[in-house]
Amino acid sequence: MNPYTIFADIVAGRAPASKVYEDEDVLAFMDIRPVTPGHLLVIPKTPARSLSELDPELGGKLFRVGQQLAAALRASEVGCDGVNFFLADGVTAGQEVFHVHLHVIPRTPGDGFGLRARPTHPARADLDYLAGSIRGALGRAGGKD
Ligand code: AMP
Repeated sequence: MNPYTIFADIVAGRAPASKVYEDEDVLAFMDIRPVTPGHLLVIPKTPARSLSELDPELGGKLFRVGQQLAAALRASEVGCDGVNFFLADGVTAGQEVFHVHLHVIPRTPGDGFGLRARPTHPARADLDYLAGSIRGALGRAGGKD
């Protein structure tokens, strides 16, 4: 599969980006099609197509940098009242660029951003059943119990 994405070009300096943060592992820059003003993307410099390929330490760092950016957005001229994090993992989840990226989306009242969903009301037994299934899978995937 072709590992190329535009984000690899941004990391390499071959494509333009409006950068807001950079260190040896992580880069954050303005989304070129912001859903609200100040919409940022945080990416690992080492490409990973999906969460399953992403080094967990690097995943933690994406979140830490996202947390700092959320505070900066609130303190900046963006002047937001709230922030959403969003990460699309897989085509079905809406992923379009196959280089893991965390969206940091500033929110203001009436900005028009939202997730469409239809909450359901399963019985406790159904919640417990799936919880057990996921706990089992977590063990097999090497997670902590
Ligand atoms: P996703 O659907 O989560 O894969 O989102 C991909 C995001 O990358 C979209 O919000 C795009 O607007 C953004 N994007 C694509 N190309 C660029 C680029 N060259 N510079 C900045 N953002 C980009």
